[in-house]
Amino acid sequence: MKYGIHWFRRDLRVAGNDALKFNFKENNGKVVGLFVFDKEFLSRDDFSVNRFQFFLKSIQSLKTELQNIGSDLLVLDIGPEKAFADLLEELKDNKPSVITFSKDYEPFALNRDQKILKMFKGKDIEVHAFRDHLIIEPWELTKKNSEDEGYQVFTPFSRMWLDIFKTEKIQKRILKEEEAFKYLKTDKKKKIFSLKWSDLLKTTDHLDAYIKENGKKVTVDIPETGSKAVMKQLESFKQRLVDYKSKRDTPSEDVTSRFSMFLKNGSLTTSQIIYYLDLKPFNSKEKSQDVFFNELIWREFYYHILYRNSYVEKSSFKKDYDKLKWKNNKAWFEAWKDGKTGYPIVDAGMRELKTTGFMHNRLRMIVASFLVKDLLIDWRWGEKHFMHLLLDGDLAPNNGGWQWAASTGCDAQPYFRIFNPWTQSKKFDPDGFYIKKYIPELKDIEVKKLHSPIEGHKTYPKPIVDHAVQRKIALQLYKSTV
Ligand code: FAD
Repeated sequence: MKYGIHWFRRDLRVAGNDALKFNFKENNGKVVGLFVFDKEFLSRDDFSVNRFQFFLKSIQSLKTELQNIGSDLLVLDIGPEKAFADLLEELKDNKPSVITFSKDYEPFALNRDQKILKMFKGKDIEVHAFRDHLIIEPWELTKKNSEDEGYQVFTPFSRMWLDIFKTEKIQKRILKEEEAFKYLKTDKKKKIFSLKWSDLLKTTDHLDAYIKENGKKVTVDIPETGSKAVMKQLESFKQRLVDYKSKRDTPSEDVTSRFSMFLKNGSLTTSQIIYYLDLKPFNSKEKSQDVFFNELIWREFYYHILYRNSYVEKSSFKKDYDKLKWKNNKAWFEAWKDGKTGYPIVDAGMRELKTTGFMHNRLRMIVASFLVKDLLIDWRWGEKHFMHLLLDGDLAPNNGGWQWAASTGCDAQPYFRIFNPWTQSKKFDPDGFYIKKYIPELKDIEVKKLHSPIEGHKTYPKPIVDHAVQRKIALQLYKSTV
């Protein structure tokens, strides 16, 4: 029997999944899905129990969807190399003809995929990797007159990105989503696939055990997962997009898309967002569209940076900044993590993160700047803490965001531009709605008092540092280093 296996990784969807579609066509609908946990990945120090649960539930939704349309998903936990070796052994009398997967660009994933490709070399099985979660892949966008050098500054990158985006080749990547949405909008799905794992071998699936075990440690509500949840999110953001430009920096307003966690595991892609919202970059009358589109380009920018400069995972993009002598006061770090710094806007952000697994972008910038330039703590400590708690924790944009705030990154804000948390507070949460939502002990405090040190409160702390003093120390620290 001719059949294929699609190896799911961070492309947890059926709709608009080119690799899966190719496999489907090659094998006339006889395709089964495989997902493999990698213990090495799960023991990384940026692992998050909450994000993993969201991931597991997304896999569960995908499995149900695949079963509804006549296919299936097998979940193993023995790492991809062993999983493929074991499967090929078990299936030696009935090997798959094609294995497909969607490409990923992180250092860990690139390394893993090289090993798997090597493993299949010389075997009588075709292996195909497809572009998926980036619209333009790193090697498709280089500096003018260069074959392999990428941009390190966002503005020229985004100009080139847009030029390439407008070409027919890339537009096809967007227009193909028409078919994906036709599928997504059909309520009653047909059995378009025609192969189950039980047709091939006896298997034991590890998904339910993982969900149960990991679920015991989860500390936040896990959002809905799967294609229905994604459609709901797309539909609701379509109504809110008009306000994006004017309100996206106001954390008390529910204006931003909340797509990030779906983008992280590939239940949604940027090309689907662009197709569904009919985004026409930078010639729309609707300025909100342009501002939103620009954020999607920032996401791709950070992926390109990480791909070309894998060292940023551990070090500063601007290498000289690795010499910065951070103070790394552990008590201050704990106060920051717990939302007890005495700066209400910072504390509200940190408590949003802790209690929901999400943090508004403006707050990510404020709390990151505060950790690095007020508390003088190594940005990598903050980066890792974010990875532990963010449901959308994603190496490229997280690293990019932290290095931007710490002024160590490519196209980062200059080190002498230091956010004043009090000014940020007054500007972006003038009525204190956001602060009061996450710091209930301040709910009876007069609004104007929220934007300066709060004295004599029974439980809420006084500021642990003086911004004006710390600012001077930070400037000196940076100046003496570079
Ligand atoms: P929207 O405002 O609706 O934006 C739409 C999409 O554009 C987002 O989902 C995201 O994919 C992309 N995007 C938006 N802003 C940025 C940005 N500044 N950089 C790169 N892409 C962006 N984003 C993550 O996805 N994962 C992270 O781990 C992460 N960590 C961050 C850490 C710091 C210190 C900072 C400053 C930013 C970080 N970001 C991260 C970027 C941004 O804060 C989130 O993408 C955004 O808040 C997610 O909410 P949303 O989907 O409602 O965004």
